[in-house]
Amino acid sequence: MPSSSSVLVYAAPMRHRFRGITTREGVLLRGKAGWGEFCPFAEYSDAESVPWLASAVEAGELGWPEPVRERIPVNATVPVLGPERAHDLVAASGCGTAKVKVAGQGTTLAEDCDRVAAVRSALGPGGKIRVDANAAWTVDEAVHAIRELDRAAGGLEYAEQPCASIEELAAVRRRVDVRIAADESIRRAEDPLKVAVAGAADVAVIKVAPLGGVRRALRVAEACGLPCVVSSAVETSVGLAAGLALAGALPSLEFACGLGTAALLANDVTSTPLSPVDGYLPVPRRAPEPDLADAVRADEARTAWWLDRLARVQPIQASANRS
Ligand SMILES: [Mg+2]
Repeated sequence: MPSSSSVLVYAAPMRHRFRGITTREGVLLRGKAGWGEFCPFAEYSDAESVPWLASAVEAGELGWPEPVRERIPVNATVPVLGPERAHDLVAASGCGTAKVKVAGQGTTLAEDCDRVAAVRSALGPGGKIRVDANAAWTVDEAVHAIRELDRAAGGLEYAEQPCASIEELAAVRRRVDVRIAADESIRRAEDPLKVAVAGAADVAVIKVAPLGGVRRALRVAEACGLPCVVSSAVETSVGLAAGLALAGALPSLEFACGLGTAALLANDVTSTPLSPVDGYLPVPRRAPEPDLADAVRADEARTAWWLDRLARVQPIQASANRS
């Protein structure tokens, strides 16, 4: 049984509601190689949580493979905002790539086009703009919207998850010239292969924890044969370090990654957060020390809930690891 100083349950308030949650929770685990983060979303089953624990155990016990690059370009993320605020956010970010959220509830395509045009003016002609519709469109809506947004942006880098299903992504991809990226379609290790086989995407958005750690994610990336963008699951800087380790170890990295998300949490667990500088993050050799964890320590009830979850998932993960 690990000592209490090597297991730490946190509850970090978020600056904005995300996936319907306002507090990000999880467990930090310390092993002989460093700290790892176990933070499957609350609604995930124990079985779905197994790869998340495998990822934390890898960070804690094994550490990560040697990187092939020292720093990772990251994108700015533009929520559904008016054009002036979108412009200012991107200009202040220092990033050369912006991911613009589109197809928000109660908003119009014209508003999305205005936001994208404002982002282009902030980035200049050399910047890259990708849009993320979070599976909001039908195939016909997606084809129309992607063409309009591509025009407004003066060229899109790619359109992320325009529709929900793999079949719809493939149908959209056949009809537009803009590259298609799969995000929500990739949540388990076998998903990127399905996406690739179906011809559903040009780019795979991959996350370390749901794929079971850096080494497994590297194998998945290689097997699917698609260029990959590494994204976070809005972890603390402890979990973000694993994403950077993956981005650092991918044999090729063509796109900026979605790992500049530390500031989405109002409090991080460390005094050395992984916050981008001039649009880049370093590839760390281990996770930062959670020296500020007291500020976000979960209350007794949430701590008990997480330790109980951890105790249920640990034996499943350990036996999966042996087989
Ligand atoms: Mg996405």
